[in-house]
This record gives sequence, C-alpha cells and structure tokens, in this order.
Amino acid sequence: MALRLDGRQLAAELENRLRSVISERLERAARPPGLAVLRVGDDPASGVYVANKAKACARVGIHSLVRHLGAATPPAQLLTAIAALNADPAVDGILLQLPLPAGLDESPLLAAIDPAKDADGLHTLNLGRLLKGEPGPRSCTPAGVMALLARHGIDPAGRRAVVVGRSILVGQPMALMLQAADATVSVAHSRTRELAALTRQAEILVVAAGRPRLLGAEHISPGAVVVDVGIHRLEGGLCGDVRFEEVEPLASAITPVPGGVGPMTVTMLLVNTVVSWWKRTEGGDPGPLCQDHPLADLLP
Ligand code: NAD
Repeated sequence: MALRLDGRQLAAELENRLRSVISERLERAARPPGLAVLRVGDDPASGVYVANKAKACARVGIHSLVRHLGAATPPAQLLTAIAALNADPAVDGILLQLPLPAGLDESPLLAAIDPAKDADGLHTLNLGRLLKGEPGPRSCTPAGVMALLARHGIDPAGRRAVVVGRSILVGQPMALMLQAADATVSVAHSRTRELAALTRQAEILVVAAGRPRLLGAEHISPGAVVVDVGIHRLEGGLCGDVRFEEVEPLASAITPVPGGVGPMTVTMLLVNTVVSWWKRTEGGDPGPLCQDHPLADLLP
C-alpha cells in the first residue's frame, strides 16, 4: 500500500506555522500581511478559487482584498488597477486570477505586477530567479509539491524524475525545482513519443498534463513516487491525471485527488505573501527575498 502524500494535513501544519510567524512579527511590522486578488469577469470556478484563497488568508491572519472587475474592462484600466496595488503600502502580494475572459492577454498584466509582490511567482523576473537559483517568490503549485516531498522525507537528490507537462504554470518550474534539488529530470509533453517508456524510468513522477486519467499502471515502475497535479471535475466527481486505483498498488507514495497537491497551492500563495510582508516591513530596499527567513525552506 502506497504512502499517501496528504496535502490537506501538511497545509494545515503550514498554516499553523504561518500564523505563529505572523503573530511574532506583527508588533514590529505594525500591520498584518496583505494579499490582493484581482478577478476579472465572472468565471464561476474562479469565484470559488478566489473565495477559498480569502478564507485561507483569514485563517492565518493575512488581510485579503478582492478587486473584482467586469469582463469588458479595457486592458488599460486593468493596468491602472495593478499599478494602484503595486503602490499600496498595505499590499504585500498581488495575484491575478486566471483564466482571464476570452480576448484578454494575461502576459502584459502579469508583467506589470511588482516582482516583489508577485504572490504567484509567475513574473518573468521571478521565473528567471528560479532558473538561476536566486531567492524569490516561487510558483505555488510546484513549490507545494516540493514541500510535500520534503515533509515525507522524499529527497529528489540523485533520483530520476520525470515531469509530464511543460506549462509555465506547473511543468517548467516543477522541472527546475526538481533539478535544483539534484534530481536528474526529463520533461514530457504532448509531442513526446512513447510516453510510457519514459515515465517507467521515473523514480519520482509528477503528472501535470491536464488530461483526466491519462496515466495508469503501464506508465509506472514499481516503487515510484507519483504526484498527480491534475484536477478535473467529471460526472463521477473529482479526478486527476492518474488512474489512482491502478497506480496506488504499484507506487511507494502517491498524492490523492482531491486532498493532495491542491491544498498546497493555496498554502504556498500564503507563504509567498508572508515572506514578502516580512521583507517589506524590514525597511529599506525590498530587493530579492532573503534566504535566512524563517520560511526560506519553503522556497525551493
Ligand atoms: P496546461 O494545459 O497549460 O499544460 C499541460 C501540459 O501537458 C502541456 O505542456 C502539454 O504539452 C502536456 N500534455 C498534454 N497532453 C499530454 C499527453 N497526452 N502526454 C504528455 N504531455 C501532455 O495545463 P497546466 O496549467 O500545466 O495544468 C495541468 C493540470 O494541473 C490541469 O489539470 C490543471 O487543472 C491542474 N492544476 C492543478 C493545480 C492544483 O493546485 N492542484 C494547479 C495548477 C494546475
């Protein structure tokens, strides 16, 4: 029976840790951390995600602020809203909720977010910092995966890792983080031939293909650690990119869906916000986020 990599439990533990970091620092900082979420349009799933993030903020003592703008808001007005949040001294983290309504290009908006307030770790500068091994806010989903592995004593060093998916949101930063942790990493994508032959080489397999139940027993080598990032709402309920019932008997450890990677993504958003708050309330030039911070182990 595979070890369950329980994201809900670790997220709860990390929330406790964040709560105490915030309360210990509150007097010196003279204000709580602030996270601003910019939501554009009325995508119902985004509404649920934004509400969950606001609840998570409230649980740890982060002040959250949601700016909800209509789907027809012109890009120039969105840029003005971002500039106002960049300039707001009470805002430490800014998140642009994706996806945006059809026709709106996210790239210039993400680029306009102050990199020091980039709660999602998706700004080009912060992706570059990850590439170069410099400290900075990290992409939340892959950082959550690294925290899950660390919590269960799974050290990627020297292991063969395969990441299925090469998106900027998940696959690419995931591969960089595993490589920074000294794994030997291969990345598969939609044009990869003989996917199963590659994934069977993995000692650590991270699946972020966005295809429901794509990988099954034939893709797994016995004893592999399997992390399923995918999340899909089908008629029978939620499922991931992995056929859990087939893979669990073979794997040494596996994330459930739901309750695996999902809760960790939100927690890492809180971590990025609190680290930014800490740095910004120290005074002086915020610069890159420091490595001696009490939460630095969570920024892979
Ligand atoms: P995406 O669609 O942007 O990227 C998918 C990647 O998978 C692409 O690089 C594509 O080349 C690759 N791919 C597609 N089909 C493939 C196939 N048959 N074989 C190999 N590679 C294939 O998706 P994304 O934003 O990276 O998200 C991936 C999944 O993770 C989605 O299900 C998404 O909902 C989920 N997700 C979950 C969380 C979370 O918190 N749990 C966060 C982000 C994304």
